Amino acid sequence: MQTLDTTLLIIGGGPGGYVAAIRAGQLGIPTVLVEGQALGGTCLNIGCIPSKALIHVAEQFHQTEAHAHKSNIGIKVAAPSLDITQSVAWKDGIVDRLTTGVAALLKKNDVKVIHGWAKVIDGKLVEIDGQDLRIRCEHLLLATGSSSVELPMLPLGGAVISSTEALSPSTLPKRLTVVGGGYIGLELGIVYRKLGVEVSVVEARERILPTYDSELTQPVAESLKKLGVKLYLGHSVEGFDAADKRLRVRTPDGGELALDTDQVLVAVGRRPRTKGFNLEALALKMNGAAVAIDERCQTSMRNVWAIGDVAGEPMLAHRAMAQGEMVAELIAGKQRVFEPTAIAAVCFTDPEIVVAGKTPETAKEEGLDCLVAQFPFAANGRAMTLESKSGFVRVVARRDNHLIVGWQAVGVGVSELSTAFAQSLEMGARLEDVAGTIHAHPTLGEAVQEAALRALGHALHI
Ligand SMILES: Cc1cc2nc3c(=O)[nH]c(=O)nc-3n(C[C@H](O)[C@H](O)[C@H](O)COP(=O)(O)OP(=O)(O)OC[C@H]3O[C@@H](n4cnc5c(N)ncnc54)[C@H](O)[C@@H]3O)c2cc1C
Repeated sequence: MQTLDTTLLIIGGGPGGYVAAIRAGQLGIPTVLVEGQALGGTCLNIGCIPSKALIHVAEQFHQTEAHAHKSNIGIKVAAPSLDITQSVAWKDGIVDRLTTGVAALLKKNDVKVIHGWAKVIDGKLVEIDGQDLRIRCEHLLLATGSSSVELPMLPLGGAVISSTEALSPSTLPKRLTVVGGGYIGLELGIVYRKLGVEVSVVEARERILPTYDSELTQPVAESLKKLGVKLYLGHSVEGFDAADKRLRVRTPDGGELALDTDQVLVAVGRRPRTKGFNLEALALKMNGAAVAIDERCQTSMRNVWAIGDVAGEPMLAHRAMAQGEMVAELIAGKQRVFEPTAIAAVCFTDPEIVVAGKTPETAKEEGLDCLVAQFPFAANGRAMTLESKSGFVRVVARRDNHLIVGWQAVGVGVSELSTAFAQSLEMGARLEDVAGTIHAHPTLGEAVQEAALRALGHALHI
């Protein structure tokens, strides 16, 4: 068997793994990256990028349909029709451009990419399945990501699909039931609804997006109602009868309900991918289902590192990338720790939600006495010109020294505010810093400044 020697061996070419590889290459560390499926991982191939592409298609279709029906802004068009094959091909084109770009960056930085499934032998040795190849390394970086959680009573196959299949439909069903009211289920549910599918969402808990506070999720709940998405909150799934296309659901009072549906999308969360590649051989310390790591992304075994989804929550691409970059620098001998003040999280629902740092509730739980203020988009000129007045920006800041500890927003296009939020938190901005910064007019960002002004007791436009 052929043995390849390297300094750094990375298992997984998602945003965590490929960024670690690029940075390691820049720093001159001999690096091998093993990827079993496609470079770019979940994020580029079956996650962030394809979902946002389809959200764009659905929004364009929905807007055109709305203008054909009744336009407030004077646009007259005929009713649109949809070629879903063309939409999916367009989405695949974007994925292709991005993954090809990743391959080129890896090559440019002298990273050796091996296509195959890695199997761990020990902390310094990995075998590639079905290839006569072993790789010996000084540092092993686990970046194997996560996979969709499956429900035992709802096995995937046929009409029961995961987000992966939902992102590449060959035809659209007449009716779709989404199981799970988290961000992935809602983003995709809204896409299908805007493309004309009758959509229902079954969620075991009492609210959609249960990890966000209800003030933030309220505008999304209202929008779902307006779009005609049926919500079954507090309902749990019992099983699917494929022959009669019926999803059996337990109601909150213990009764049974049958929902007629052509497809069922299971979106009940993701689990770190730690099985199937002999990781058990390392007997690493675990943190629940995830590989336990310290603030340098070191596992319990020396020179074995873990980043991204395999190391647990928050399972977000930008966190995986930041960890990947840091681990490469640590291996190169730089002093680094992973201690972000905040990692912004965005729900690309309609409207969008963004949270960064502490919410009023988490600040209170931590014993912080905080000022909380919000500024509604109903009083923001730019929001009106975008035909969207729902939502707000909220700031949370310490009462004693006005240090900003958290931002939240809900509204059309607020995902782009995540940058300002993360920067102000990371730079230790106070309310006066944001309030005293001239924000361009007319922008949604003015609501950020106004929220800070309001916390100081002198908002100008409300
Ligand atoms: C529908 C959907 C939408 C999402 N939207 C967003 C979003 O908008 N924003 C956001 O921040 N996050 C989003 N996410 C989450 C995001 O995709 C993940 O957090 C991110 O991809 C994690 O990166 P990673 O590098 O840890 O793992 P992954 O991207 O999962 O990559 C891991 C890679 O490792 C490979 N691999 C695993 N085991 C082996 C092995 N033994 N040998 C070789 N290769 C192996 C896999 O094939 C995979 O390519 C979304 C996820 C989904 C499913």
